[in-house]
This record gives sequence, C-alpha cells and structure tokens, in this order.
Amino acid sequence: MKNKFRYFSYFYKYLGYRLWITFFVSLFVGLLDGIGLALFLPLLKLVTNGETGDPSGEDPVSEFVVSYLGVFPTLINILGLILIFFSLKGIAKFLEGYIRVKYQQYFMSRLRISNIDLLNSYEFKHFVKADVGRIQNTFTGEVSKVNTALRYYFKSFQYGVLVLVYVIMAFIADPLFSFMVVAGGILVNFLFKELYKRTKYFSRKLTSQNHTFQDLLIQKVAFFKYLKTTGLNDAFGRMLKNKVKVLERLQLRIGIIDSLLAALREPVVVLIIAIAIYLQVGYFSNDAGLVILSLLLLYRALTFFMSTQEQWNFFLGVSGSLENMENFSEELKAGKEINGNLNFIGLQKTISFNKVSFNYDGKEVLHDIDLNIDKNETVALVGPSGSGKSTFIGLISGLLRPSKGEVLIDGTALTDLNLSSLKSRIGYVSQDVNVFNDTIFNNVTFWAEKTSENLKRYETAVKKAAIDSFINELSMKEETLLGNNGINLSGGQKQRLAIARELYKEVDLLLMDEATSALDGETEAIIQQHIEKLKGSLTIIVIAHRLATIKNADKIVILKNGKIQEVGSYKDLMERSKEFKEMTALQNL
Ligand code: ADP
Ligand code: MG
Repeated sequence: MKNKFRYFSYFYKYLGYRLWITFFVSLFVGLLDGIGLALFLPLLKLVTNGETGDPSGEDPVSEFVVSYLGVFPTLINILGLILIFFSLKGIAKFLEGYIRVKYQQYFMSRLRISNIDLLNSYEFKHFVKADVGRIQNTFTGEVSKVNTALRYYFKSFQYGVLVLVYVIMAFIADPLFSFMVVAGGILVNFLFKELYKRTKYFSRKLTSQNHTFQDLLIQKVAFFKYLKTTGLNDAFGRMLKNKVKVLERLQLRIGIIDSLLAALREPVVVLIIAIAIYLQVGYFSNDAGLVILSLLLLYRALTFFMSTQEQWNFFLGVSGSLENMENFSEELKAGKEINGNLNFIGLQKTISFNKVSFNYDGKEVLHDIDLNIDKNETVALVGPSGSGKSTFIGLISGLLRPSKGEVLIDGTALTDLNLSSLKSRIGYVSQDVNVFNDTIFNNVTFWAEKTSENLKRYETAVKKAAIDSFINELSMKEETLLGNNGINLSGGQKQRLAIARELYKEVDLLLMDEATSALDGETEAIIQQHIEKLKGSLTIIVIAHRLATIKNADKIVILKNGKIQEVGSYKDLMERSKEFKEMTALQNL
C-alpha cells in the first residue's frame, strides 16, 4: 500500500491534477457500464413475466428506472435505455483512452526535459564518478520503460476503479453474495503476492543489467579501433553476448510469471463464483433475479480485478526502471552545481587565487595556491605530470570548486558568478579533443548559420589554427563530414580543429591543457606563432610540455606536488631556478 502511494506521488509530481481527471473519467466509465448492466434485471423480468408484469419495481433497479429516470419499464424502453447507457459508456471510454495517450506523451517529454536539465547542471566532480552506461540507459531505454510503467499503472488504476464500482453495485443488489465473492478475491490476491514479489525482483535486476550492457556497448564503440587492432574485440564481444543472454533469461522469467497469472485468471474467477453460487443456493435462498444481477456485476468485478492485477504485475515488471529513474533524478539533483547570479561581463583586471586548495575524495592535490593572473597576460604552467596543472585549469573555469580558499575574478568569488555567463567567454583545448559527428564547418562554428560574416570568422579561425590547407585539399571542403569523434582525422588534425573552434568563439580567456602536445614539432610551431599573435589581446593560460613553446610567456609557474615552486619569466627562471634550468637542458634548449 505504501509502495502504491509512493508510485502515485511519483507520477503525481509530473502529472498533477491530470491524475484526478483520469480517476474521474474511469469512475464515469464504470458507473455507465454498471448501470447498463443493472438494466438487464428489469429486462430479465420483462422477458420471464411478459409485459403485463407489475411494472412498479420491487427490485432496486426497476425503482431506479421509474423514480430517477422517469421511464416506464416496457421492453422497448428498457432496451433503449440499455443502448443509451452503453453508447455513453463508449464515449466515456474513448475519452479515457484519449487522455491516457495524451497524458502519457506529456509525462514522457516532461521526464526527458527534466533529465536533460538535471544533467546540464550536474557538477563535474560527481560526473567523473558516474556510471556512463547507466546515464545512457536511463536516458533512452529506461525513459521508455518508465513510460510503459505509467501505462500499466494507469490501466491498473482504471480497472481498479471499475472493480470498486461493480463491487459497490453488487453489494447494493445482494450484500451476502457479494461478500462471499469479495472474500474469495482477497484470498486469491494474497496467494498471488509471491508471484508479484518475484516479478519486482527480476525487474530490478533487469534494469541494472541493462546499465552494464549499455556501458559495455559504449566502450565497444568508443574503443573500436583499439579493440580491433589488438584483437581484444573478440573477448569484449563475448562479454557483450553474455550480457545479452543474461538479459534474455531475466526477461523470460518475467514473461513466465505474466503468463502464469494470465492463465490462472479465468479458472480462479469461475471457481470463486461457483463456490459462492453453491453456498447461496444450498444455504441461503434469495431472490433469483438479484443473485443473477450481482453475479453479473461480480463476474465483471472479478474479471477486472484480475486484469487490475495483471496490469499491476506488468507494472511491477518495469517498476525497477521507475525506481532507477527516481534515484537517478535524485542523484542528479543532489549533485547540482552551485550557480551564482552575477553575470560575468568579461575580465577587467585580474584573476586571483587566494589560498586555494583542492581535493579529490579527501586527497588534497593542490595546496594553498596564491597567484594573480592579469588581464591579457599569457601564463604558462609547467611541472611533472600529476602535479596538479589540469586541476588548476579546472578551478579557473569553475568546473571544479576549491575545497579551501577562493578563486576571484575582478574581486568577485567564482561561486557568485553565473557559470554559463563565465563559460561562454572561455575557450578550452585539452589533449583529448571532442570532434562531433558532423561537418567541419559545424564542428568549428558549433552549428552557426552560414552567413558571410560567420564564414569569414570561420576562415580566420581555421587559418590561425593552421588547418586551412588541410581543409582546402578536401573535395567537400568545410562541408566534409567527420566520422564519429573524428575517427577519419589524424591526431594532429583533430587537435587543430579543436583549437580552431575555440578561436572562432572569440573568448576572453583561453585555456590550453597540453593542447599541442600531440602535434609534430613543425605543426606545433605554426600554431604557436598564431597563438603568439593573440598574445596581449586575451588572457591565455597554457600548460605545455615543450618548454620552447612558452619562451615568450609573461609568467611561467612551476608546479610541483600541488604547490607553486617558482613564478617568473623564462629569463628570470633560467637565472633563478636550478630546476628550471635542468628541465630546459633535458629538452635541449
Ligand atoms: P597534471 O595535469 O599536472 O598532470 P592533474 O591536475 O590532472 O595533474 O592531477 C593532479 C592529481 O589529482 C593527480 O595525482 C591525479 O591522480 C589526481 N586526480 C586527477 N583527477 C582525479 C579524479 N577525477 N579523481 C581523483 N583524483 C584525481
Ligand atoms: Mg594534466
């Protein structure tokens, strides 16, 4: 019961008053159908007693017909009434189906949109620990399963309302008989409980297995080239195939229980009614007409009761998905990033790190960083791998939050800034570049309209990134389609494309995390020349392995074990820092 309510409140969150409308329309359908059925009682009497029989009803139905509907119960009148009620029921039933479909679509899109919003504002710190397969599966397969869950829930809910209506009407007609049947129904429900529990269990398993399947599939696609080259794709394929088998078995088990329940339905209904009739006739004699009426109503009630259960079991079969969706949304909500409301209007003076520390899961990787970066300065970060350079850059873009101290932009704490206003002015190129499965033009301009102005901007950007000649040699030029994550480009080409995208963006702040490390010396030098040209017109923070590329930086920061060791110009450091001198010597500078 508690669970049923929990599911209800979950759907209610998205559908609100619409659930009540569903409820009332179902009630309406039940009432119309019940009255239509009840009219068979006077009909039966008319048929057995002939039209001359006493019309003033001694049974509740005839009474209802005469005093409430004001209709004289002749054969033609009663047949007419039956027809009218069943036609009205038909209309109500159409309405019921219509709103179900409508609300279902509404629910589905609300769910999808809210998930997208939640993922958008999900903090990076949490994302790195998230299960990618789960995210993927929840967004696709699970959303449609939750939608199916809603359909079953609706149906079982609607049938439940019908059961209620029929039982109440049967009680009015013949309390004793109804009581026996209802008692039988409750008993059966109790017996079926075990089957429901099994279904729910398998459903949960199915969802989690689906997550891992998706996870493996994503990796199979992402690492396709590597797996293929090393022959590991066979082993990986076997893992995938095993999962397919596991999924098949789980689905089969749920299906078996469903079929079992469906098969048991009719015999059980007939058994209960047979027992009730036997008791009624043998031990309590009563008005045959009323018994037949409540028999009709109860047969219907029981059939719908079983259908309610059947739908409920289908529902339980996908309830694992519903739970997953609930937890998933909750987790995303809990991991929502803090967002200030001050708009970033562009860097005016300084970015300052004020005693900033940062830790990943309790492990501190940056300690007490104090540093000022002035507007339009070029700052280079150097240091061994693992010293915290990438983490430092993450703190500037607001991707990561300091665990101690604060990052200030023109005196405003980053936490007070609206992050999207900040990020729209930040360019970021890292070692792992992202190439979208689209044309070169769209990759560089991020789907900008192809106006002559944008085209000019695009051309400047690709020239500065030293990828213009490569593009011009392609037959389709900027309309060339790039494969999945740029699989048909070389590493250096991808890198240059990523740089072109950031240059097109016309940013305030350019963050380059080993952006040119994958390039050959010559290409790196060309891009470097172009970046040198940008120097002084925007703030650049660059992490580079090859120290030759940062000779002209205004400031070089040496990081070691999460601490700043030295800050100075290339010349300064060559004079001051033995360590820096050694580093340059190692690179033959
Ligand atoms: P660098 O860029 O200088 O090579 P990073 O800033 O990437 O170094 O990493 C600094 C330290 O933080 C390393 O010891 C690394 O293992 C750790 N680290 C990086 N990312 C994570 C993460 N998501 N979770 C836990 N530790 C991390
Ligand atoms: Mg790094």
